[in-house]
Amino acid sequence: MKKLLPTSTAGSLPKPAWIAEPEKLWSPWKLQGDKLIEGKQDALRVAVQEQQQAGIDIVSDGEQTRQHFVTTFIEYLNGVDFERRKTVKIRDRYEASVPVVVDSVARKNPVFVDDAKFLRNQTQQPIKWALPGPMTMIDTLFDDYYQSREKLAWEFAKILNQEAKELEAAGVDIIQFDEPAFNVFFDEVNDWGIAALEKAIEGLRCETAVHICYGYGIKANTDWKKTLGSEWRQYEEVFPKLQASSINFISLECHNSRVPMDLLELIRGKKVMVGAIDVASQKIETPQEVADTLRQALRFVDADKLYPCTNCGMAPLPRQVARGKLNALSAGAQIVRQELSAETAC
Ligand SMILES: [Zn+2]
Repeated sequence: MKKLLPTSTAGSLPKPAWIAEPEKLWSPWKLQGDKLIEGKQDALRVAVQEQQQAGIDIVSDGEQTRQHFVTTFIEYLNGVDFERRKTVKIRDRYEASVPVVVDSVARKNPVFVDDAKFLRNQTQQPIKWALPGPMTMIDTLFDDYYQSREKLAWEFAKILNQEAKELEAAGVDIIQFDEPAFNVFFDEVNDWGIAALEKAIEGLRCETAVHICYGYGIKANTDWKKTLGSEWRQYEEVFPKLQASSINFISLECHNSRVPMDLLELIRGKKVMVGAIDVASQKIETPQEVADTLRQALRFVDADKLYPCTNCGMAPLPRQVARGKLNALSAGAQIVRQELSAETAC
């Protein structure tokens, strides 16, 4: 019988201090050239081993080969000038210096395909690979060429589709698109965001996921959360169209968040990666706390479609905290698994 409640993480894990300064986003690499390639592969190996030791079922690369979940992908594309930079407000929230789109965008070479092959060789377990979503990509750039967010997103969706097909051929089981921007630009999501996502997954035979969260546990995000009131109903705006889309998994922030759990009813039928680990706090959850969140989600998600996960990536956390949280996720899922099997045995 298939194992119930397979665990995974949203994506990133902290990097070892020998490759990049820890607890920092966009942390520069400490190595160069061949040493950097070897260092990234070693970091990836450690990330896999730590997930396995914690008993995580669907393994990822912990995003050890990228500096940032969006910009590293963009660095590999034609048409984006990284020398020219502009300050924009990412997700209407915090200012960042970003590169400029100066020409038509195109993928010169595969971006993560070799890294995915490397991950595939490390484990027999199912593997998940994260890519930035089209809307989140355009929101992390200044566009001086297309003059249309929709057009640029469409071009990125085509590029992501090329990459995704090669990741699938490399043996990736689940390809995830990170779309935190879906929690901010609701009109655009419904006008063209879901369509762009569908373009990115067109023709794929492997499983696909979209990750929508309230961001890393950085100050700009925690400050923003304070303005959202007692109930976070952002998901409600985009769930109906996502439910009708062909995406297989929806990965969400649930633990310690003010998202009313009953919103999950709107995506009934989809597989749901339920965030049961808070990445904005260094406090390690107890297995019981994880189990509580999963039990609440089970009221709206069928047990065979519930995938315990983290709220978001854990890159900015200290390594021992991330390790503790992986263990808590695994132990919490095990508690609920036992409860479910006891129920079916009755
Ligand atoms: Zn996230």
